[in-house]
Amino acid sequence: MTLKSLLTACALVTAGTVCAQDQVINLYSARHYPTDDALYSGFTKTTGIKINRVDSDDAGIMARLKAEGSASPADVILLVDAARLYRGEVDGLFLPVRSKVLEDAIPSNLRATPGTDGGIPWFGLSTRARVVVYNKAKVSLEDIDTYEELADAKNKGKLCIRSGSHPYNLSLFGAVMVHMGEQKTEAWLKGLVSNLARSPKGGDTDQIKAVAAGECDIAVTNSYYLARLMRSEKPEDKAVVEKVAVVFPNQQSWGTHMNIAGGAVARHTKQQANAIKFLEYLSSPEAQNYFANGNNEWPAAKGVNPVNPALQAMTGGKPFKSETIPISSVGANTVKVQQMLDRVGFR
Ligand code: FE
Repeated sequence: MTLKSLLTACALVTAGTVCAQDQVINLYSARHYPTDDALYSGFTKTTGIKINRVDSDDAGIMARLKAEGSASPADVILLVDAARLYRGEVDGLFLPVRSKVLEDAIPSNLRATPGTDGGIPWFGLSTRARVVVYNKAKVSLEDIDTYEELADAKNKGKLCIRSGSHPYNLSLFGAVMVHMGEQKTEAWLKGLVSNLARSPKGGDTDQIKAVAAGECDIAVTNSYYLARLMRSEKPEDKAVVEKVAVVFPNQQSWGTHMNIAGGAVARHTKQQANAIKFLEYLSSPEAQNYFANGNNEWPAAKGVNPVNPALQAMTGGKPFKSETIPISSVGANTVKVQQMLDRVGFR
């Protein structure tokens, strides 16, 4: 190709040269971890397919997909919560797909239920535990090593937790409802509210910091927020980690609640094959290690065991018992859970 014809076929943009014949997929991502960039360029190197990333949070991505409708340029979507993935499925934002690679790699409890034609609307790609962090000088482990005990009167005035209707909590509460049934779950939520040390505010990291600061004794958080503090070099973060301990609840019963981050093919993609190829790539062992580790998560794919010092320290290097319920059942409970939250005044 002569320089002249190259220039007519390609447009020079700041990110490099994009040619009309280049394959580009549009990725709407709620993941904003710098390490993910290297991962995506790995995909481009192996397949020649470029990734054009649009960043937002889960809610922003879903609102955008709805607004764009059938004109949406989105090909692949990455979200960071099971209830949100379920919501995207129900709202028809995803294209259910068949992929032997994905079906072999991702355990069936970590992906959506297949439709009648066998198509699967979304796949979990990494997992995070919803754990309990506590002030080790003030609380004994036996008093908080189950989710049930967080609502027990013995823990009155000790609990810090973010808003009840945040997706991470909706997913946890939806899971609790699978395990305990509706009535017991509502009573449990009521117990949580009466054990609050303060009105819910802030994110998960804020709850951990509130324990270290003595504002409360017990907090609920996703595991990677604690891992992030454990890996931080900042003296103030080290001081927080020094004061707290962590427990993976319900080891003697149904196991610790696991949420997922996951991916889906966009309903109106014009590049179904390439979109599936990208999700398949993310489920490969190399990508899984990188993808999960970048945010201190565990891989969703079978047989991938990354070495992450913070996660190892958190679990004492031992395997822990995690929930085995289908993660899709969690999302299905969120409407009922939200109604319960309104009734018990958990805002
Ligand atoms: Fe998060």
